[in-house]
Amino acid sequence: METVKATAEGAVPVKTKEVKAFGTEAADAALEQLNIQRRNPTPQDVEIEILYCGVCHSDLHTARNEWHSTVYPCVPGHEIVGKVTRVGSHVTKFKEGDLAAVGCMVDSCRECDYCNEGLEQYCSEGNTGTYNSPDTHLGTHTFGGYSEGIVVNEGYVLRVPDNLELAATAPLLCAGITTYSPLKKWNVGPGQKVGIVGLGGLGHMAVKLAKAMGAEVIVYTTSLSKVEDAKRLGADDVVLSKDAEQMAKYTGKLHFVLDAVSAQHDINAYLNLLRVDGSLVLVGAPEQPLPTAAFSLIPFRRSFAGSMIGGIAETQEMLDFCGKHNIVSDIEMIDMQQINEAYERLLKGDVKYRFVIDMASLKKENAG
Ligand code: NAP
Ligand code: ZN
Ligand code: ZN
Repeated sequence: METVKATAEGAVPVKTKEVKAFGTEAADAALEQLNIQRRNPTPQDVEIEILYCGVCHSDLHTARNEWHSTVYPCVPGHEIVGKVTRVGSHVTKFKEGDLAAVGCMVDSCRECDYCNEGLEQYCSEGNTGTYNSPDTHLGTHTFGGYSEGIVVNEGYVLRVPDNLELAATAPLLCAGITTYSPLKKWNVGPGQKVGIVGLGGLGHMAVKLAKAMGAEVIVYTTSLSKVEDAKRLGADDVVLSKDAEQMAKYTGKLHFVLDAVSAQHDINAYLNLLRVDGSLVLVGAPEQPLPTAAFSLIPFRRSFAGSMIGGIAETQEMLDFCGKHNIVSDIEMIDMQQINEAYERLLKGDVKYRFVIDMASLKKENAG
């Protein structure tokens, strides 16, 4: 099949292949089966058959237009692992049959200072998100990993350590790198007390990674059912954040706090945990603002920062780190057809700790 891309030079035909996907046509509509076009691999491209795709809370925020920038139809999914089915003639890193992974970005300008520094996520031109970004090849917008296959420039495709269980590796591509990057940037390690707020997909990866980096880890959760489980994941202590007495235990004592909460909450309660010169880094991205009191920051010279996913080389570094330390996500496998129910459970914090879609379910006869 051919789609026609309009450019300054005129209409350019691009050969494409139709694949099955799951997506939504509107913020208030359920996700359902639809067909999308994938370009035939260019000489620099890798074509991947998607075997598993993790379900990130960002997928839900985007499908429901909670960040007010969604283009429909929207096919989410940016925790992708699969098998290489074809490579372009100039591809050197991958061959047919290899395992491969794709995270939150599929391209960037490759020329700006940030791209040159391995900070492609902050590309001056804006990185090309795996979904919901302009598609420079087809002239439409990008579609994510809730699909049978994807075609990506090899510079944005990652290698998967072969000792890790494949399905449980998928969530590393967003939940893993999004927590690994700030933990590294803020030099989290031995001798430090680190708070992790929100024990969801990102939070549970942060616990595993911060422990592997040598820190003492304290988990803050709103869910009674996760208190004991947090210790199994490696936490040294757990605070039920609804209990004021428990919340007071580490006031002014933590070196670093990573906040991975997906909904509105009181950020000042967590800033107050920091010791002098401590930092709270926000990775959770609630729809509403988080009001900050001046006196949560000033008296202890505290810092309040944000962090977005991670660069491509850093994502590979994180995957290799996880391979070395045998770290994967705790997952609950679902069929593609269960995605709407999974979103409802995600909203209730009811997943231990990441849904992963078995993409074989999408290939089933009459799927949808
Ligand atoms: P998730 O699995 O749904 O986890 C979010 C956790 O937040 C829940 O498990 C729950 O933990 C806690 N929570 C939920 N509602 C809450 C509320 N009303 N008050 C207090 N705590 C609440 O989500 P995720 O996939 O880990 O993503 C977390 C956030 O990070 C999302 O906003 C997502 O969009 C964002 N994100 C950002 C980046 C980035 O680059 N910065 C990348 C990926 C995702 P407890 O049950 O333990 O309280
Ligand atoms: Zn994500
Ligand atoms: Zn750039």
